[in-house]
Amino acid sequence: MKLIMLGAPGAGKGTQAAKICEKYNIPTISTGAIIRNAIRNATDIGKQAKSLIDKGLLVPDEVVIGIIKERLAEPDCKNGFILDGFPRTIAQAEALETMGISIDKALSIEVPDEVILDRLGGRRECSECGATYHVHFNPSKDGDKCEKCGGALITRPDDCEETIMSRLKVYHETTEVLKEFYENKGKLVKIDGDRDVEEITKDVLDSLD
Ligand code: ADP
Ligand code: ADP
Ligand code: ZN
Repeated sequence: MKLIMLGAPGAGKGTQAAKICEKYNIPTISTGAIIRNAIRNATDIGKQAKSLIDKGLLVPDEVVIGIIKERLAEPDCKNGFILDGFPRTIAQAEALETMGISIDKALSIEVPDEVILDRLGGRRECSECGATYHVHFNPSKDGDKCEKCGGALITRPDDCEETIMSRLKVYHETTEVLKEFYENKGKLVKIDGDRDVEEITKDVLDSLD
């Protein structure tokens, strides 16, 4: 099963991808997480990406396409995968096709812009394993520590109001058109993401059965 998660920043792509991953045991590949890791390790890609991420702008297509090519060649991807945060441009979507990868479904988690600010403003991410929480909507049972691994929970630097606004703009101007791209291929599934996590998960899993 080869899936794409579409939706605005903060729509709940990562949260729902984790549920799919649990049920089908296929890896979630988050280009954002890979890039943040590269920034922490101060690699060439990390150095190139840092100022762009901090401004809420996209990292160049050739960089993320390179990341994805390398990651999808790993053995754990051979039974399928969930792409979270890739593709974000038509050029990236076309690159997947050029690689000979045929997607089964693109799930678009639909959430109005007004909801996004609260979601991202309260998001906390585990600095060790990348698990995401929310201070009100999905708090960790262990307070400021990750339930899964005990890592410290942090606020991502790009989850500040100014950067959220620029990420939303980029989403509407550049990424949202991918819904049409996958709709034209008969692959798009729209999911109402403005509900409780469990209700959304039910629709997500039903759409994959
Ligand atoms: P969110 O989960 O809030 O949508 P991500 O973790 O997916 O955020 O991405 C964080 C940042 O990483 C983006 O704002 C962008 O700068 C960069 N990024 C991640 N994926 C891509 C991509 N496919 N193309 C270009 N930039 C990307
Ligand atoms: P994305 O991967 O699309 O950027 P996340 O899955 O990281 O989004 O979710 C963004 C924030 O909103 C996180 O703090 C997450 O815990 C929270 N969240 C996710 N889904 C819901 C929901 N249905 N209702 C309320 N909060 C949610
Ligand atoms: Zn953790």
